[in-house]
Amino acid sequence: MEKWPVGVFASIGTGLGVALEVVEELGIHTVQLCCPHREQRTEENAQKFLEKLSRIGVTISVVFCDFQGESYASIPKTRETIGLVPRETRAARKQEIREIADFAKVLGCDAIGIHIGFIPHDATSSDYQELVGIMRELADYLAAQGQRFHLETGQETADQLRAFLTDVGRENVFINFDPANMILYGSGEPIPALKQLRKWVRSCHCKDARWSANPGVDWGAEVPFGTGDVDARMFLQTLHEIGYDGPLTIEREIPADPLRQKAEILQAQTLIETLKKEIL
Ligand code: MG
Repeated sequence: MEKWPVGVFASIGTGLGVALEVVEELGIHTVQLCCPHREQRTEENAQKFLEKLSRIGVTISVVFCDFQGESYASIPKTRETIGLVPRETRAARKQEIREIADFAKVLGCDAIGIHIGFIPHDATSSDYQELVGIMRELADYLAAQGQRFHLETGQETADQLRAFLTDVGRENVFINFDPANMILYGSGEPIPALKQLRKWVRSCHCKDARWSANPGVDWGAEVPFGTGDVDARMFLQTLHEIGYDGPLTIEREIPADPLRQKAEILQAQTLIETLKKEIL
């Protein structure tokens, strides 16, 4: 397989990614898919979608969980609503992840991506222990169908994430490394984090951001890839050094402005192709 195929985060139906029509126009052949909501996750829809993908020569590298009720409006909102951490929705979402994994299996995809949310920092707390237990259960469910779990970086420092992955202790749990999220959430410099987490990195997002004046309290600002504080060249150089050769999946989440979204993805695509020539 080609090293570093350029990918993009895409959606069918609702979701923050780009539509498949845009994927086709951009000439991109690998996507991470934002999972459609439950009512759309039928066998029939999956088959229709697969036909469409095959017609335009696109494969899915990761299916990402997207739960109703999640909000990224602010860091506190994220803390309250994202992933498996909120207790009120934990059991229901745990069940839904199994369903998403089943849907991904129909799509022929062997990786499930998730933002699990802000992991509790006290490793001795019952909350943390419960979360570790759920992760093990889900990882085992995925392993039985030959699938992996990719946790998105962002809310944790590299040290905290490493400790959590070690506590979960499952061989099919990995990381989707998003350098911009480290900056947006104020969780640390992305390049050292990437080096530290190298053995777990199995997919990534090419996304960029600028640090906020109050990191960890206020959001940083998401900006087009190559124009922020990530250092795109160093990011790709480091991916090369750690031996990552999977897709470079562009993520630009401004669905309210599809024209700008497409233009900025194209700009990222051009930059990545240039850097690939220089680095590989
Ligand atoms: Mg991301």
